[in-house]
Amino acid sequence: MPYVSTNPTTGEVLATFEEHSDAELDALLSRAASTFTTYRQTSFEQRATWMRTAAELYEGELPNIAEVLTKEMGKTFAAAKGEVAKCAMTMRYYAEHAEQLLGYQEVSSPASSSGIRYEPLGAILAVMPWNFPLWQAIRFAAPALMAGNVGLLKHASNVPQSALILEDVFRRAGFPEGAFTNLFLASKNVAKVIADDRIAAVTLTGSEAAGRSVASAAGTALKKCVLELGGSDPFIVAESADLDKAVPMAVTGRVQNNGQSCIAAKRFIVVASRYDEFLEAFATQMDALVVGDPLDPATNVGPLVSAAQREEIAGQVQDAIDKGATVHAGGAAVEGPGFFYRPTVLSGVTPQMRAGVEELFGPVAVVIKVADLDEAITVANSTPWGLGSSVWAEDATEQQRAIAGLEAGMVFVNAIVASVPELPFGGIKLSGYGRELSALGIREFCNAKTVYVA
Ligand code: NAP
Repeated sequence: MPYVSTNPTTGEVLATFEEHSDAELDALLSRAASTFTTYRQTSFEQRATWMRTAAELYEGELPNIAEVLTKEMGKTFAAAKGEVAKCAMTMRYYAEHAEQLLGYQEVSSPASSSGIRYEPLGAILAVMPWNFPLWQAIRFAAPALMAGNVGLLKHASNVPQSALILEDVFRRAGFPEGAFTNLFLASKNVAKVIADDRIAAVTLTGSEAAGRSVASAAGTALKKCVLELGGSDPFIVAESADLDKAVPMAVTGRVQNNGQSCIAAKRFIVVASRYDEFLEAFATQMDALVVGDPLDPATNVGPLVSAAQREEIAGQVQDAIDKGATVHAGGAAVEGPGFFYRPTVLSGVTPQMRAGVEELFGPVAVVIKVADLDEAITVANSTPWGLGSSVWAEDATEQQRAIAGLEAGMVFVNAIVASVPELPFGGIKLSGYGRELSALGIREFCNAKTVYVA
């Protein structure tokens, strides 16, 4: 299947690209492996200079690059501009901090001197999704390149223009040829590349199915693997929640990126004493959102990325309605061209419904009534995923109970889940393993070499 860029607002095909031939792929892998041997010797200072230049390029060309994102996958122009700015900010963070995060760590032991050196592993393959076409890749590339690794990107087949921007910016910033390479590679050929001796490790952000496939290939090849997969993040409203703060953020948390975010709040779990008040305000605000052209500044929610993605979410909602769920807002696609779906609020969702057990990758919220915070935590933990979680409580005791009780890679209190360069990002259970960002993220693709001098 070729790489096809389609505007989800109109359905128009913008560009297509062929996959690399076997010979081209072979040459790109060889170039990456060869570049690694010299690139790993470059100083942190040199890499930081290139990384800061890349950040400047993103900032200098921000509106043009953001427009490509909006046209290629439908996120609002404001969100696209925010994504480009966040990439630049994270590149600067690692330019600034990589040397310190990977500095020699002395450890006291029976040796006369001992410690840990962090060394790059080699060529790292990154398999990335379309929903944050720049950010997902930069989240991997900024730390990996600053650590002295080289990166190879297999991007999702519907965001080829974003993939080319990523490669082009690193090249123009001065990074050597082969330090960051875009591969137009079919997903069925990813396992073959993972097995290749020139690849040291792999990271994937995407679905559970892709995660299983990549993890199997990495397991067979005995290579390091990091997985950032899906989730059904809970948004808990506790007795002491401030609803004036919680409700608007519930809306933002659900419809950010047109509802297509792994860390979007998907299940709104509300204690009985606050349930009616929350549901009414939440449904009203979801219903008031403007759905339309993502380039129009008045738009809150753009289209879903593809016709298939809209069919999926429409099917999940219809199944819930057919089995007795109540619709408080939305509940249907928007007529006309483009892959639009109305922000939707459901209650009365049960485990017999698809919406009760599947990830909802669109602007659809499920609101669940529980007796108290203990039940909220139990319900929150009752999924096979464990990515992010958000709890709304003013009371410190309630906050601490939720922080300790939630089974998730991340707990945010009185805030929606977000990725921040200083803090680790990742999940547990079927949401994957390993961490991105922070010191943990940059060390994932390093050899933590023990040094012992007797
Ligand atoms: P996807 O279908 O898994 O695609 C993600 C990437 O994996 C794409 O590059 C895709 O390439 C590739 N791929 C698909 N199947 C593969 C296979 N069998 N072997 C190797 N590579 C394969 O995911 P998606 O539907 O685009 O993205 C949505 C999912 O990603 C959701 O579950 C979401 O929660 C998750 N996600 C997680 C995070 C996180 O940080 N935890 C962040 C964003 C998204 P092709 O496009 O060529 O198929």
